[in-house]
Amino acid sequence: MAQQPYNDNLTPKDLRVIEHARKKWEKVHDSIPKDVLPIVSEGNPVLRTPAEEVPVEEIVSPKIQHIITEMKKTLLTQSDGIGLAAPQIGIPLRIFVVSRKVFEGAHDDVVCINPKIVKFSKEKKWMEGEGCLSVRWVYGKVERSTKVTLRAYDEKGNLFERGAGGLLAHIFQHEVDHLDGILFIDRAKELEEADPEAIKKEHKK
Ligand code: ZN
Repeated sequence: MAQQPYNDNLTPKDLRVIEHARKKWEKVHDSIPKDVLPIVSEGNPVLRTPAEEVPVEEIVSPKIQHIITEMKKTLLTQSDGIGLAAPQIGIPLRIFVVSRKVFEGAHDDVVCINPKIVKFSKEKKWMEGEGCLSVRWVYGKVERSTKVTLRAYDEKGNLFERGAGGLLAHIFQHEVDHLDGILFIDRAKELEEADPEAIKKEHKK
């Protein structure tokens, strides 16, 4: 039995939605290509463990560069995926990748290492339709700041700061949560299970 999210907003119906979607996913997740690291699902303890910082001098090491390459490869297998955190492929390090799909004209994903949100807008909104590649086919409303500023290292080891609104602000908050062992279902309400065929074109993180 998987651990249930700690979330007072969730009703027994929400918990049934999670359980039902989980069973459906277990039946099909073997279809993921075998040459990439598979995405781990909710219930796996690695998703609940705060991830460790990457020593800055190790960012350019073959080991960390390999992890980043594997993360990009795994994310590319998910046509609807727009973000992936290292714990989602079983690696408890503070790294996440935002898909190039999010940035117009971009040819590579954006890598954020040891990210920290240094500013949250006071304005918050219950964003609809938040989902996660580790909680397949479950969607809900999550209250998020509409703007944030993220400070992180890029894959070359350079520190950068980036302000974000809209979808990118939403992704940053979702991915940093992953690195703290938090899943969106811990913050969500009004969960729904979507039909995998119907949502192929939608976005998950
Ligand atoms: Zn996620």
